[in-house]
Amino acid sequence: MGRVYNFSAGPAVLPEEVLKEAAEEMLDYKGTGMSVMEMSHRSKAFQEILDDAQADLRELLHIPDNYKVLFLQGGAHQQFAMIPMNLMKHKVADYIVTGQWAKRAYQEAQKYGKANKIASSEDKTFSYIPDCSDLPVSDDADYVYICENNTIYGTKFKTLPNTKGKLLVADVSSCFLSEPMDVSKYGVIYGGVQKNVGPAGMVITIIREDLITEDVLPGTPTMLTYKTHADAGSLYNTPNCYCIYMCGKVFKWLKKQGGLEAMKQYNEKKAKILYDFLDGSSLFRGTVVPEDRSLMNVPFVTGSDELDARFIKEAAAQGFVNLKGHRSVGGMRASIYNAMPIEGVEKLVEFMKKFEEENR
Ligand SMILES: *Cc1c(COP(=O)(O)O)cnc(C)c1O
Repeated sequence: MGRVYNFSAGPAVLPEEVLKEAAEEMLDYKGTGMSVMEMSHRSKAFQEILDDAQADLRELLHIPDNYKVLFLQGGAHQQFAMIPMNLMKHKVADYIVTGQWAKRAYQEAQKYGKANKIASSEDKTFSYIPDCSDLPVSDDADYVYICENNTIYGTKFKTLPNTKGKLLVADVSSCFLSEPMDVSKYGVIYGGVQKNVGPAGMVITIIREDLITEDVLPGTPTMLTYKTHADAGSLYNTPNCYCIYMCGKVFKWLKKQGGLEAMKQYNEKKAKILYDFLDGSSLFRGTVVPEDRSLMNVPFVTGSDELDARFIKEAAAQGFVNLKGHRSVGGMRASIYNAMPIEGVEKLVEFMKKFEEENR
């Protein structure tokens, strides 16, 4: 078998072109005689990789000048702690709980102050986004927190919550760079890169400059203070150099595809193929209310655990892999990130049609 169609939620598919380029540069990166993996993070060659990655990301997202971009370690989970440690000046924050990851962040924040759950969709297994137009935002909240795209459940905020003037903090791990976003509407945006941007083991945090201060909760480790990394240009300690290099390549690839507006159109086209099929299917159905559907993660079921298991197995044998839903929801989930080609979705739907006919 050659390359498969990998529908994994993360770590996930990367553009083939990017992988080939990395392979070509593996033994000798641009005449340095070494791999990026073997290179000092203080070298000129690596500084260029880092600077380019940052410049390209700024261009793609139109990041305003008063925001810093930080390449950090510890994945999204570390941000669950860093956000309250750095931002909870009044020790109060409001959380909108729309899935497992938002819930984890909410629970983590409780260690550092008063975290309020001001809205939730847990009553219906997180299959929708609650109405966030008039929430009971706390007067003294330091921020309002959302997980913008819920990887496990396949929902996405199509409009941002009304935070009533409070700072908005968003986990965008699974929709990062899938479409344009207005960075100026947020105080902090962060994404674990292994969903839509690069290999695992890194998180990119985009943070408004005035939020980067020494005034953090007592006991906050140096490594968990945003200012440490902002002052050192993401080189306070040895960063995940290879991951930064790979993300940089993906940013260049995204620019070549026409940027985030073009990606949005492509992603909408891909998702429509799958959702249209699910809406007309007599066997499969999507699990999310139509208006909150994610373009990136598409969960679906047949209604029978036994048929679900057979589908996943037969699909894998045909080269459509990692279609099993998250262990907390079951069924299937197709993650169709930026790097999933449209042919992958078309062929998956063809296979689903065939499976449907055979299992009437
Ligand atoms: C995967 C995921 C996480 C967890 O990421 P780690 O890098 O494993 O910490 C958090 N939030 C969202 C939205 C995710 O998709």
